[in-house]
Amino acid sequence: MINETPRVRFAPSPTGYLHVGGLRTALYNYLFAKRNGGKFILRIEDTDRNRYVEGAVENLIKTMNWVGLNYDEGPDIDGNYGPYFQSERLEIYKKYADRLIEEGKAYYCFCTADRLTRLREEQQKAKLPQAKYDKHCLSLSKEEIQQKLNAGERYVIRLNVKPGPKVSFNDEVRDRVEFDRDSIDDQILIKSDSFPTYHMANVVDDHLMKITHVIRGEEWLSSTPKHVLLYDYLGWELPIFAHLPLLLNSDKSKLSKRQGDVAVEDYRDKGYFKESLINFVALLGWSAGDNVEFYNLQELIEKFSLDRVHKAGAVFNVEKLNWLNEEHLRSKPNEELLEGLKKALTVSKYKNLNLTDEYLLLIVEAMKERVSFVKDYIDSCTYFYEDPTEYDETVIKKRWKEKSPEYLEKYKERISTIENPTKEDFEKTLKDLAEELEVGLGQFMHPLRLAVSGVGGGPGMFDLLYIVGKDRIISRISTAFEKIKK
Ligand code: GLU
Repeated sequence: MINETPRVRFAPSPTGYLHVGGLRTALYNYLFAKRNGGKFILRIEDTDRNRYVEGAVENLIKTMNWVGLNYDEGPDIDGNYGPYFQSERLEIYKKYADRLIEEGKAYYCFCTADRLTRLREEQQKAKLPQAKYDKHCLSLSKEEIQQKLNAGERYVIRLNVKPGPKVSFNDEVRDRVEFDRDSIDDQILIKSDSFPTYHMANVVDDHLMKITHVIRGEEWLSSTPKHVLLYDYLGWELPIFAHLPLLLNSDKSKLSKRQGDVAVEDYRDKGYFKESLINFVALLGWSAGDNVEFYNLQELIEKFSLDRVHKAGAVFNVEKLNWLNEEHLRSKPNEELLEGLKKALTVSKYKNLNLTDEYLLLIVEAMKERVSFVKDYIDSCTYFYEDPTEYDETVIKKRWKEKSPEYLEKYKERISTIENPTKEDFEKTLKDLAEELEVGLGQFMHPLRLAVSGVGGGPGMFDLLYIVGKDRIISRISTAFEKIKK
């Protein structure tokens, strides 16, 4: 058992963006570290040169910062176990590979790509369950190896998987996991470009960085027996493993780009709050068991435990994410929403309106229960920013009556005599008039809303009137008379 302070890591390969699955892995590691007084480390697994993407690391770090999963050690802040870029640790991997070679646990392989292809084809023809390297180069003598090395022949270093019992390990999520040793290939540890493979670098770094718990996606479960062998060969203690359930599309296929966005940045750009994303991904494979679904990060830290991570795949349900976004929006202070709205306005067609904070706060408040995203504070109520130019036809049909112009005219006249009308003034005037004329309030409200906003729904009637204000109400009523024809 590992008793020291837990140390966990998020170890993405920089592919250009942070995948929502990656965010879930990062989050669970973060929550685990925070919950248990441990350390959370960011390590960049950039040993696959073919997949190198310019700017990917910067982008990843930016996104991690945006969501607020702050790490204690990492490439841009350092720590005692760096470097945190695997590409800067090549000598370290080489050293351990050499040690394995010396001990007969790994070996040089000079096979050409052609030979390997032929071998695979033969094995397929022979209907072997799985293509595996045939240990051809294991029989090379020391002298032969040296000759080839001297001649500058390309080589890789392979793990020498020896016969033995099943490879097994405990997993916090899946309990006991076992793999037949036969199914494990003599995998490559060091590639011909002298970069390590994922397996080699991952194990060496997890050990040297004193990682106590390896929490990662289920797609890595099949790599774990290889890692377990490596730990064994290197004489190192195993970390505790926890493999998180797969993320699925709603049709239960593996979450894919084709069925929706998978980059955290895409969700950020669409206006989701980081709080909703965190809350949402936390529930992809974990629940506290108390039917609560709304959490902030602090609450998640308090509740999180690996033993409540599910085995079954977790369906990525965008409706739930939208719902959480609404809930988080509603829980936010108006001042924060105001800042968001101001920012959204700067890139909207209303950027030159110079609206006061006081005015915008009224919108924030009045619409808070009716919007899902900050941008809805603009898109769903443009009538706060400009006069309506169109009027909803169905509302006209249903609500614009013969007498509507007469009632609105009266309302217009009445409010024009009030100086700086308050919300209550707008309400009282309307109620008084309806009473005097002995008609239902609806006879005033519906046409008035239509004339002032162009649509049939929106915030509370008197919030709408108060925010739009006396002058604009008056002019909008006049315009409506000209434009609304039945
Ligand atoms: N580099 C791997 C990835 O991109 C890390 C897997 C692991 O956590 O071991 O997900």
